[in-house]
Amino acid sequence: MKKIALLGATGSIGQQTVDVVNMHQNEFQLVSISVGRNINEARKIIKACSPRFVSVLHKEDRDMLQLEFPHVTFAYGHEGLIEAAIYEEADIVVNAVLGSVGLEPTLEAIKRGKPIALANKETLVTAGHLVMEAARKYNVPILPVDSEHSAIYQCLQGQDEKAIERLILTASGGSFRDKTRKQLEGVTVKEALNHPNWSMGAKITIDSATMMNKGLEVIEAYWLFGLPYDKIEVVLHKESIIHSMVEFQDTSVIAQLGTPDMRAPIQYALTYPNRLELPNAKRLQLWEVGKLHFSQMDYSRFRCLAFAFEAGKQGGTMPTVLNAANEEAVTAFLDGHISFLQIENMIETAMNRHDVMQNPCLSTIKEVDLEARQFVRSLITKRG
Ligand code: NDP
Ligand code: MG
Repeated sequence: MKKIALLGATGSIGQQTVDVVNMHQNEFQLVSISVGRNINEARKIIKACSPRFVSVLHKEDRDMLQLEFPHVTFAYGHEGLIEAAIYEEADIVVNAVLGSVGLEPTLEAIKRGKPIALANKETLVTAGHLVMEAARKYNVPILPVDSEHSAIYQCLQGQDEKAIERLILTASGGSFRDKTRKQLEGVTVKEALNHPNWSMGAKITIDSATMMNKGLEVIEAYWLFGLPYDKIEVVLHKESIIHSMVEFQDTSVIAQLGTPDMRAPIQYALTYPNRLELPNAKRLQLWEVGKLHFSQMDYSRFRCLAFAFEAGKQGGTMPTVLNAANEEAVTAFLDGHISFLQIENMIETAMNRHDVMQNPCLSTIKEVDLEARQFVRSLITKRG
């Protein structure tokens, strides 16, 4: 029985993780969870899975739930999130919270020797060097949940990693893949949230539409697989059937395929190196798909991807700024305060004014993250 701490249990990845746990009750048990504001969903998970420890975002919610579930230990806020991650009994942490708030719980869990199944890509973008350094020091595996990175991880099993020539990440193109930049000017939040292939949380759906999601994934791949940026490529592949590929020095390319269903990579991270069946999942029938399409990435159309490569290559604190500015700008877009194309303008402005510091420690990362957020918020306030 593998005991799981699940951060972000009420989110899209969180709920699919709960699904996987419920499908294999002899294999997995949820012992600790964190949620944010969605208390109704938290109640359902507590009733269905009986975790022993639950952390919520707000103290009022903690007080209310504690009365309802006297046998559960509750906590709240950032400290609570960390406590949920380091819960003594947990054998593995699934980090499915949103944003760079996932960084410290990850670092603390690594220090206690807990393997991390990582969906929370912002953690690796904002401080990949700290996470990978800690993972090496405490000999803890970081198991990718993001479908592209899970694909690459699967392609690399039993392979000669010294012979990798390129990682090829596939990108669906998101909600606006067929629109020109001119057509992007008037797009609405509702249109942006309508992803053609994947059903995901709001922030990552917007990130997919701006292509920042792929940019964050390029940086994530850099840290997970240790390849230089000129060996990481992105190709547009609108069907999301090939989840990513690895090319080797002998020109052989290995790809991982499947229907778009995040439960598959979530489950693989939990069962690695073994596999289990995935009940109720749609199996891939290539004749149903018919054709797979590929096209070259256009960096002037998808500027956020170019920003991410630039931030990654500059290194140090620049990816922290990229991520923090993006988190704030996407929130502002979702709240109706800025237009879609202003997301990338704000990220570009935040990056341009930042002087990179190399090899930042955790407190520098936190300061730079906060400063970039405040700067983007000030731009939004100025707009009125
Ligand atoms: P959601 O927005 O659906 O869920 C986010 C989760 O984090 C919720 O449980 C939410 O709580 C919680 N949360 C949000 N903010 C805070 C906070 N400040 N403190 C504590 N908890 C918080 O996101 P997704 O599930 O879509 O994505 C989660 C992560 O996984 C992201 O990093 C994303 O990039 C990554 N990912 C997602 C994929 C997907 O298919 N969705 C695919 C690959 C990666 P509540 O809802 O209760 O407020
Ligand atoms: Mg992905």
